[in-house]
Amino acid sequence: MYCLLCGYDVIELRRDVCPSCVSQDSLVPFACDLAYRCKKSPRDTNSAPMHDASVSDAIGRRIAIMIARNSTVKFELAEDQGGEKLMTRRVGFAQGGTGL
Ligand SMILES: [Zn+2]
Repeated sequence: MYCLLCGYDVIELRRDVCPSCVSQDSLVPFACDLAYRCKKSPRDTNSAPMHDASVSDAIGRRIAIMIARNSTVKFELAEDQGGEKLMTRRVGFAQGGTGL
């Protein structure tokens, strides 16, 4: 995989997490067009990539898409906790009123 944020080729150890910079949602396959364009960018003295505006724009769009794709909300029911019942209570305003 290639990390769009740190600019290194990495081996993905945890799903969607860069092992180099520990950023989420920044990994794309080696063979993707955006990774290829990023690798063509020159590097500064610290070996950080210096992308032109079009590549930086494409990186921003791709990361926004990956974050939106991976930002699903997971609802867990107490019954899914392996039989252990959790004590819960409802808080907040009741629908249609101002009471709790
Ligand atoms: Zn990274």
